[in-house]
Amino acid sequence: MIIAGPCSAETREQVLDTALQLRELGIEWFRAGLWKPRTYPGCFEGVGEKGLQWLFEVKRQCGMKVCTEVSRASHVEACAKAGVDMVWIGARTTANPFLVQEIAQALPGTGMSVFVKNPVNPDLEAWTGAVERLRTASQKKIGLIHRGFSSFNEKIYRNSAAWDAVVQMRSRFPELPFYCDPSHLGGKVEYVREISQKAMDLGLDGLMIESHCNPSAALSDSAQQLTPARLAALLDSLEVRAKDTEDAKYTLELEEFRAQIDALDETIVDALASRMELSRKIGALKKTHNVSIIQARRWDTVMKRIVRIGNGRGLSEDFVHRVFDEIHKGSVNEQETIPDCSEPRHK
Ligand code: PEP
Ligand code: MN
Repeated sequence: MIIAGPCSAETREQVLDTALQLRELGIEWFRAGLWKPRTYPGCFEGVGEKGLQWLFEVKRQCGMKVCTEVSRASHVEACAKAGVDMVWIGARTTANPFLVQEIAQALPGTGMSVFVKNPVNPDLEAWTGAVERLRTASQKKIGLIHRGFSSFNEKIYRNSAAWDAVVQMRSRFPELPFYCDPSHLGGKVEYVREISQKAMDLGLDGLMIESHCNPSAALSDSAQQLTPARLAALLDSLEVRAKDTEDAKYTLELEEFRAQIDALDETIVDALASRMELSRKIGALKKTHNVSIIQARRWDTVMKRIVRIGNGRGLSEDFVHRVFDEIHKGSVNEQETIPDCSEPRHK
């Protein structure tokens, strides 16, 4: 599933020219921003309601479905009146609970579906909260879009890809269609393909890609917009794996691997529980001897040893580090809650 179209609707000609070319490629969903949230004042802030008529023409002339970004209830109402099929909540708006609430209340009853982009800041709770607000307001058709999180450290992309956040959101909302927006994530034409491929490899359901009939003249996000021709080449080159297959041999093999994983997961949990039990005993011992819980040198030795062992088994240092950091935090937490008697706590 591809949603494509310019960052902003600029003129009727630009909208229709782009839409006709995209339609030729078989793309069914057209996007164009009308109300543009811009970082600096004085930048092109979109054509506003005037563009709704152009979107309507795209529907009529190209037979496409159309969508645009909304950041307040009045946008939702104007879109519904103009026959817009879908709206999305932009990253800056998802970060604002007041606006999300306002939009959530305006949406149900319009029949429009809504995609919720991740908030600009890496906060899964704000993203989740936005979905919950929509659901509480009885909005039925909801989807998610990963467009990367703003970050001080990101050197290459415009926003940081957080695929682990995608996996987490997917498991929170397995029933929601999940898209990626490689254009805002990468910020440059040359990154759009690799990000799109990654999204497909992760089994995401679709892509929202910015495409403009003349990107170098675009009034916003000029560097990241593809011409329809370049978009066609990109889409042709994407490898999309089947989400599932009926192949009996594959299914059998997969089931076998999954059974082994399930058994290993139990072993891991057993080992963690035994480790925690020992940790509690150590905690009680430290308490009776009035010794502080955190012993940095000891932990340093433990970590070095375990990273070395992990390395020998083909696990990256970073991975082992992260896992054992969590285990250590868990142990320290547990030791902090040791009751005041010198005996270890029993459930
Ligand atoms: C957009 O899709 O044009 C847009 C402004 O996106 P984001 O909210 O992801 O920055
Ligand atoms: Mn844009």
